[in-house]
Parts: sequence; structure tokens; C-alpha cells
Amino acid sequence: MNPSFVEVRPDSEFPIQNLPYGVFSTSDDPTRRPGAAIGDLILDLRVLEESGLLDAVSGFNAPTATRESAPLFAGSTLNPFMESGRASWQTVRARLTDLLRADNPTLRDHSIRDRAFVRQRDARMHLPADIGDYTDFYSSREHATNVGTMFRGKDNALMPNWLHLPVGYHGRSSSVVVSGTPVRRPIGQLKPDDAPPVVGPTRLLDIELEMGFFVGSGNELGSRIDVDKADEHIFGMVLVNDWSARDIQKWEYVPLGPFLGKNFATTISPWIVTLDALAPFLTEGPVQDPVPLPYLRSTGLRSYNIDLEVGLKPAGAPDYETIIRSNSRHLYWDIRQQLAHHTVNGCNARPGDLMASGTISGPTPESFGSLLERTWRGTNPLQLAGGVERKFLQDGDSVVLRGVARGDGYQIGFGEAEGTILPALADV
Ligand code: MN
Repeated sequence: MNPSFVEVRPDSEFPIQNLPYGVFSTSDDPTRRPGAAIGDLILDLRVLEESGLLDAVSGFNAPTATRESAPLFAGSTLNPFMESGRASWQTVRARLTDLLRADNPTLRDHSIRDRAFVRQRDARMHLPADIGDYTDFYSSREHATNVGTMFRGKDNALMPNWLHLPVGYHGRSSSVVVSGTPVRRPIGQLKPDDAPPVVGPTRLLDIELEMGFFVGSGNELGSRIDVDKADEHIFGMVLVNDWSARDIQKWEYVPLGPFLGKNFATTISPWIVTLDALAPFLTEGPVQDPVPLPYLRSTGLRSYNIDLEVGLKPAGAPDYETIIRSNSRHLYWDIRQQLAHHTVNGCNARPGDLMASGTISGPTPESFGSLLERTWRGTNPLQLAGGVERKFLQDGDSVVLRGVARGDGYQIGFGEAEGTILPALADV
């Protein structure tokens, strides 16, 4: 049963149990502003805050969300809210849940109600945060094993460090884009077998099915975030497509790792789902053997049971076809371990930093989270409707990521992470 006065269809990703945060604008008001998704609507948090409905009321005691302190939702990003800390996130979530209830007249019968809601189809979504730094991990054992097997053989698939630490690298935040942003096929150096390198458009354009988390409150330079305190610093999660050019990557990555084969675009979903909304979907992660060093030992349920899907739609095709089905619980290293590892050396995480999981692959071919693995380097092409075949992405292809956690009588999601491939610029 939907307990909100806002209509929520049974198949909606945005019931009252979700209340994810994003940044939107409308043609009436092009100002970017924070909102929360509910059903087919967006609750405008700037309007709500300005109206005083987030202020202290009976039973609501939120020093960070009162009018006396700095506003949380007056800006064009969620960074001030992220920085305000977990107690503030939980207070606002409780307040929104209360205000949206069918039996609470406060917002339901308020004169601002019409102004406070915008239809999602009338809104344009933007990046939810000013992303200072973007880090990408490599946390799926199946993915690391598949890639290692392809490039080094089965016996040396996992590098010696892999089971001891969450391997990661520093990505590029400037090219993180919100769902719906087209992706230009990158140009770079390619190294044909037995011939000198050439420069040109990538021929092996790929996707990476990932999830990411946004850092909320950060840590001071020189301090660290303990694995069992990491929840207090993680604001919420998004879907991430870490587009990859495999031929550029293969030639450039030795010895310092991913660079131009990765940093041309990273697409995220518009909605950030909070850890509080995801709490009912915590589940056991894979057994970690060997037992990690003490600073990486997280206790309790470590993983999230979120069904993940990738759809592919060639130019002119009528519909998306699902090509990958995976689940975030396959991740070997969890988000708390990732954040603890990232900061163990004193590196400071800041509000709005994005940290992605790495490609999430499961045990079966259908769950492999990249085309590289899904087609086994192109040796086993995907057969799509209408006789279309794909090894890697072609110009005009659209790719969409979806993620759904299924609860008792409801489901929550992130919206889509979608992008369409544009042809490369003329050769350099
Ligand atoms: Mn990646």
C-alpha cells in the first residue's frame, strides 16, 4: 500500500521508501536546484526549505536543518547537504517521509503544494554534485579474473595484491556526466600487432557496469576513515557506466595504469539513493579468504542486493535489448572497505567525491559487466534482434544501465544511466 498522498505506481522506482536526491531544472525555472524523487514527481527541496517546512516542528529537532543555520538546499548542487553529515541526512529523510504521508496535512494541504512538486517528465536532470575527485576501484573478483585470464592466462589471472587490497586508480572528474549526455567516440593511439602505433578512433569502445558512492562528510588531510565508521561518511549510491576504449587502454596502461582509454566520459544516474534507503537490502558479501588486514575488516552485512541490467539499442532499433544481468552483491570488496583503504594513508576524501566499484561481473557469462568479457574479446559476438551482431559499440548505439532493489511490496531504483555514442571527430 502506498502510504503517501503522492500517487506511486506499483512498478515505480521511487516509492516513499526511496526518496533519492538529485539536481534538476525546468523550462519555467532554469535554476538548478536539489530535489527528491517521489512517484512520477520531484519534490523541490529549495521551495520546501524556503517555506520553512524543514524547520524544527514538534518532534523534529534538527540543528543542521533549521532556518537559523546555513541553508542546505539553496545552491545548485547537493554538496552542502552532503557535507552536513549523517545526522542531518537522517533528520531530513525522516522529515520528508513524514511530510509525504497521506495522513499528514502539513504539506498535503499547504498553499505551496503546487509549487513544491514538479513532474519528472517536465524536468531536466543535472549532475547532483560538484565532483572534486573521482576514484575507480576494481572490486569484482570475477571481472578481475576474466580480464586477467584474457591478458595473462588462467594461471596468472589475479595479480598477487588483488585479494589483499581493493585495487583502484584516480579517475577524471571533469568528464563525469549525467544520464542522457551523448558520448563522443574517443580518438587515441592504437597499436596494431606487428606494426607501429597509429592515431585514430577507438575500434573497441566498451561499457563498464558499475555502482558508485558519493562521499558525504569527508576527513581531514592526514586523518583516516575507519572501516566501521565509513557509513557515517557515505551519502549514497548511483549507477555508473565507466565507458572504456580497450585498444587505447591496452597500449597506454603500462606502467601507470588507465588514462585516455577511460577519462573521455563516465555516465552516472541522476538520482543518489541513500544508504538509509538501501539498508533493507544489505546482504552477505563473498567470503574473503585470506582474511583482510585489520583496517579492512568490516563487520556485519557488507553487500547490497541490487539487481543490475544493461540494455543496448542500436541506432534505428525500436527497443532496448537486455544484454547483461548482474547484481551488486557480487562485489568482493565493499564500499566501506574501499573508503577505509582510500584514506588509510591520510588521503582526504571531500564532500561530493565519487568513488566507483569497478566493473561488476558475476559468475555466469550473462552477468559479465563489460562487452570485453561478455563477447570474450569479440570472439563470441552478441546476437541482437534483427540479425544485428555486436562485439563492441558502434556509432549510434545507446546503452542504458538500470538498478533495482526489490523489497517487500515495493522496489527502489536510481533512474537510468543512459548514453548514445556519437561518431569520432575527424582524424587528428
Ligand atoms: Mn571502471
